[in-house]
Formats: sequence, structure tokens, C-alpha cells
Amino acid sequence: MTIHISEANIIAVDAAHGTRPFKGDILIEGSRIAHVGEPLVTPDGARRIDGRNRLVIPGLVNAHVHSWEAMFKGRYDNMPLEIWMLYSYPLVGTKALDPRLIYLRSMIVAMESLKNGVTCLVDDIIELPVQGMDAIDAVFDAYHDIGIRANVSGHVINRPFVDTIPFTREYLPRDLIADVSRIKVPTVKNYLDFAGEVVKKHQDRSDRLRYLVAPSGPQRCTEEMLKAVHDFAREIKSAYHIHVLETKVQAVAGREFYGRTLVQYLDDLGVLTNISTLAHSIWVTDRDIACMAERGSSVAHNPISNQKLGAGIAPFRKLLDAGVNVALGSDGISSNDTSRMLDVMQVAGLLHKVTTPEYGLWPTASEIIYAATMGGARSVQLQNEIGSIETGKRADLVLFDLETINFTPQNDLLNHLVYCENGSSVEKVFVNGEIVVDDGELTKVNEGALVRELRERYDAFSEHHKGVEELNRRFEPYFKKIHKHCCGENIELNRYSAPPNEWLLS
Ligand SMILES: [Zn+2]
Repeated sequence: MTIHISEANIIAVDAAHGTRPFKGDILIEGSRIAHVGEPLVTPDGARRIDGRNRLVIPGLVNAHVHSWEAMFKGRYDNMPLEIWMLYSYPLVGTKALDPRLIYLRSMIVAMESLKNGVTCLVDDIIELPVQGMDAIDAVFDAYHDIGIRANVSGHVINRPFVDTIPFTREYLPRDLIADVSRIKVPTVKNYLDFAGEVVKKHQDRSDRLRYLVAPSGPQRCTEEMLKAVHDFAREIKSAYHIHVLETKVQAVAGREFYGRTLVQYLDDLGVLTNISTLAHSIWVTDRDIACMAERGSSVAHNPISNQKLGAGIAPFRKLLDAGVNVALGSDGISSNDTSRMLDVMQVAGLLHKVTTPEYGLWPTASEIIYAATMGGARSVQLQNEIGSIETGKRADLVLFDLETINFTPQNDLLNHLVYCENGSSVEKVFVNGEIVVDDGELTKVNEGALVRELRERYDAFSEHHKGVEELNRRFEPYFKKIHKHCCGENIELNRYSAPPNEWLLS
């Protein structure tokens, strides 16, 4: 199909314009952009879309989300990561979800994403008790059906649980250690066989769908796993997506387990590279940041989740100044409660302003828009395909109506996008040249029916999960002690920012 968008306001995020808005035409032929800029005569048979009083931007990229958590939207509050995980990723008592429920769960995330202008997401799936083929099939099916671009992971943990969090053996009573010691972890071969099979099954199904390699975290995987999956990621031209230094407990884990920061540990293993995307990167040292920049690694910054779990504030300005590619993510739908990237952009724009009175260092709307588009594309190794509006790239675009309250009166378009728009002006969304949202409505799925079906099934799940919560509540008092132990340590300059370079020496 050929689509001609005429006389639109465009923020292209390309090399020539950056985020500077300009007026022009866009021609979409099939899945790709065929022309951007000068006015065109609408080709015969093409659909013409009047772009006057419309803004077109590259589709937003959600560089870090966990659809597993969509079942817990709005369920928890006021818990730090290590405590919250007891309920959202329970250690004991979970049973595999019915694939239809997994399909609906992923669908809810995709529906919210597309309607909020997100055309590409990174869904790092931790499926409990284990990720089976049925489960990952259901996720791919949902993203296939709705028309979003998705990078779907097989998330992997293969160190025994007690070795993933410092002081667990000291604080946990023996019966609870025995309980968690029963958690099965895959071998490297198990994981690679599974990953290979998923790639074969889904990767060629559509060029929108890709498998993503996601070792959970340096302290949650063996050295052998961390290295083997990095090789595999290179082989399948995927990104190496890993959680690094989200919490202070994890900063302490680096010192306790490896005598180094976790970033230095990854670098020593040779897996901190230009395909590595580090989710969070809050408790990084200046030396870590310099190293990440030198290796060409990316960071997926999740400012809403980091506040919700009290994890801390990533050093946004330091990362950018060092040359680290920064992308934005919502993180899971329980540690954030939504997957709306326009919210994430606004919060990213605001949060860092309270970290320093030096206002020249505060994020600009332009930097936020770049991070949410090109930064995200680069973080999943798709910088040559998406992230900007350029001839030859995939036609992943969002068209906003500028005649709404959010854009009226209209001043600086970039500021409106970051600080005024909440998704209610999203009129059309294109993925691979296909219109997947039209007049604000999803075109490929029946939103009402899917929402209804999930609501109908939720009560039974919720009842079961209450029992799981009770089983896992037994761990809470001990994790509270570990949290306190790690957070009480004097390894920081101030409570919520990165520790000084020298903390390892003190
Ligand atoms: Zn995460």
C-alpha cells in the first residue's frame, strides 16, 4: 500500500534535522518510507492523509518492559525491589499460566503501547515457574496479531537463588533456604537449545518480531551463561539485554561476590560491548560509565519504575556526557503500573531537574525525544531500520492531532510532546507502513472483547495468587533485613545517586 502524508509537521530525528520540527510530505511505500520533505503529487492509487495541523514523529521505542507483570497492574505499592519481587516474581508456589491468559496479558501491554505511540517494544519475559515454548508462543502470537514491532526475550537465571542476593545465607532460616534451593535453573545447553528453537519458529514469521537474549543480571547468571548467550546474541544479530545495578543491594552484590562493580565484572568477562544494553544502571561509578561509553554499550533508563521501587536515580547527564547511548523504558507493568511511554518521557524530563541546581545540566525535551526514538532503536540494534523518519527506513510513525487541548495554545512542539501530551492526541500509528491505530482506535484487534476476556479470567488468577503471596510473605522479614543491611552501608555520596569512584577502596 502507498500512503502520502501531505504538509505535516515533522520531527524526523534524522542526521539533517535532529529533533527540529519542519513542514513536509512523507511517502510510505509498502513497509518503508520512500520520501520525506519536499511536497509531492499524490501517486495514483495512493491513500492521501492531510497532514495539516498534524505532527508526525518516529514511533516510540519502549526499551524495557516485562509483560509478565501486567497481571499485577495496580496491585502493589511502597516496596523496594527485593521485597516487591517476592510478590511479583514469587520464589515459591507459582503455577504456569494458561497460554490464553499469557496472550491476553501481552495484548493488554501491546494495546496500551500502540495507543500511546509505541511502535516497538522490548519485552523481557520472566515466565514462572519456567518459560516453556507454549508461553513464549502466546506472547509472539499477541504481538503478531496486533501489529506491533517486538523484541521478545527468553529471560534466563541460572545461579542458585541464594547466590544472587548478598547475605541470604546469613539472614534466611534453614527451612526457607531449603525451599528456595528447590528452584530449578536451566543449564547453558538447555537455554541455548530453547532459544535456538524460538528463533527458528518465530523470527522468520514477520520482520517485526525478533528474539532477544536476556540474561537476568550479572549476579543471577553463571560466567559460562553470560558468555555463551553473548556469543549467541551476536550470532542472531540481537541485543544482549541485561539488568545491571538497579538497586543498592545489587551494588553490594558486586563487591561481595566479585570484589568489583558489576559493570567491571561484565567487562572482565568480555560481554560489555556495543550490543549490550544495561537496564537501569543506577549504582554505576564514574569508571563504570567511562567503560560503558568506551565499549559502545546502551542504557535502558526507567525513571518511573526506579521511583516506584525507591531504587535510585540513574546519572542521566553523566551517561550522555560520556557518550553512552541512553534509551527509555517503562519497565514492568507492576513496577510502573503502565507501559505508557509518553508518561516515561515526561518523568525522565522532570526527574533529573531535582538532582542538581545546575540547570544547564537538566535534560532538554530534545534529548528526551531522541532517547525515546533513536536511543531506543540503537539499544535493540535496529538503528538502521527504525528510530527516525528517513527514506529507506521502516515506516514506524505516530501522527498526533495538533488541534487538541494538549497542543492548544501551541508553543514549542517538543515541550508539548514531552510535557503536555499524554497519548490522547494520538490519531494514527503506523508499523511497517501498516495503519495499526486509526482515529485513536486499534485496527487489527477487538480491544473491547480482549479487555472483557481478561477481566473475566482475572478473578480466578487473583484468588490463586493470594495464596502464592501468603507463601512468599514468609520471606519478607529476612529480606527486609538484607535490604537494610545493604542500604545502611556507607558507599554513597548521597542517598539516591551513584556512589563515588573510590567506593570499592573505602
Ligand atoms: Zn526490568
